[in-house]
Amino acid sequence: MKTLPVEINGKQIPCYLKRKAVRLIYLRLKPGPILEIVLPRNKDIDLEALFEKKRRWLEKKIKEISQAKKLFEDNTLLYRGEPFEIKVCPTEKLHCGVRISKKVFFVYLNSRKTKKEVLIDFLATQTLEYTQEKAQNFARKIGVLYKTVATKETKRWGYCTRDGNIFFNWRLICLPESLIDYIVLHEVLHLKHFNHSPQFKKEMAKYLVDFKEREKQLKTYILNDINQ
Ligand SMILES: [Zn+2]
Repeated sequence: MKTLPVEINGKQIPCYLKRKAVRLIYLRLKPGPILEIVLPRNKDIDLEALFEKKRRWLEKKIKEISQAKKLFEDNTLLYRGEPFEIKVCPTEKLHCGVRISKKVFFVYLNSRKTKKEVLIDFLATQTLEYTQEKAQNFARKIGVLYKTVATKETKRWGYCTRDGNIFFNWRLICLPESLIDYIVLHEVLHLKHFNHSPQFKKEMAKYLVDFKEREKQLKTYILNDINQ
């Protein structure tokens, strides 16, 4: 892997080059922002020309990423789309937990658990409760059956399997409810259309007319991790 900086809009962006058994060149912009380029093996590439060709795309992506909202910052988190301050309160009690008051998340900790563990427990439980109820409602409307709804540690917002299990990222409850609803509907609808075909989109619009707008908004959030 080779690294070099690339200049876009007067800003230096770190860039990583990877060689893989691919036929085409892939560019991926990750939060940071960091540019990753996957190149075919044994092929010389004129990087200057490549950047020139992709300049507009890169500028657009960099703008998107710099405006994106992280779910977790050092001492704040998003909960149902709103920012909350995180305050850690040591406790002697056996049970740890979270209490929300106004715009503060009070995290009660004993020596058995970390802040991160307590927050994940709390958010995963909230996500599960919310998505289970929504999935049930959407499934009834669409007329599909599913086996289980569960939360998971995943890089995606959610996914489902062909045998009818739906998984949601435990972080979902950090998003505004309108976006959680979109994600839940998206996955439940996949039990009927296992693709993103025009029929899938048409039916999506039947339940959420503004689903495209929600899809766009969802891209402005970054699925990141809680700091220790
Ligand atoms: Zn999908």
